[in-house]
Amino acid sequence: MMLKIKKFLSSDDVSLIVNENLAIDDEEFLEETHLDKNVLLTGEIFKTDDNVTFSGKIEYTLADECARCLKEFERRIETKFQADIVQKEDMESDEIQMVVTDGMIRMDEIIKQLIYLSLPMKSLCNDDCKGICPYCGVNLNNEICQCERNLTDPRFDKLKDLLK
Ligand SMILES: [Zn+2]
Ligand SMILES: [Zn+2]
Repeated sequence: MMLKIKKFLSSDDVSLIVNENLAIDDEEFLEETHLDKNVLLTGEIFKTDDNVTFSGKIEYTLADECARCLKEFERRIETKFQADIVQKEDMESDEIQMVVTDGMIRMDEIIKQLIYLSLPMKSLCNDDCKGICPYCGVNLNNEICQCERNLTDPRFDKLKDLLK
């Protein structure tokens, strides 16, 4: 995964539009994260006299089993980032840094880092997933079961006693 910016760096242009389809070449990483290998990298690189910065976004697809309803799902995730493009990494900087070597940026590690930072903590088909009913196993996203209505809550029993 190389981003070639040699021409841009030596030109008089002050900005470069980026729109690249990248593929993650790390089976272990893909298995661990349940990702599709294709990552779309878009954004713009800006050049001033003092620095070069990248204002970008990555988009990728998570294909996993929902932790709540156990259904297989695919979810598109996107995350924005700002990075400094540098010749040599500055260890004291807190910014994301992309190091240019021979006019190219090796993107592998940065993309993986951005993915780790943006992956949802829990694999859910949808943030509002209602899950499955613990009593009858029905997927509550598709159906409404009778279980909850028939269950008596002990707190209400006490209330009923008080009302008697
Ligand atoms: Zn779900
Ligand atoms: Zn139920």
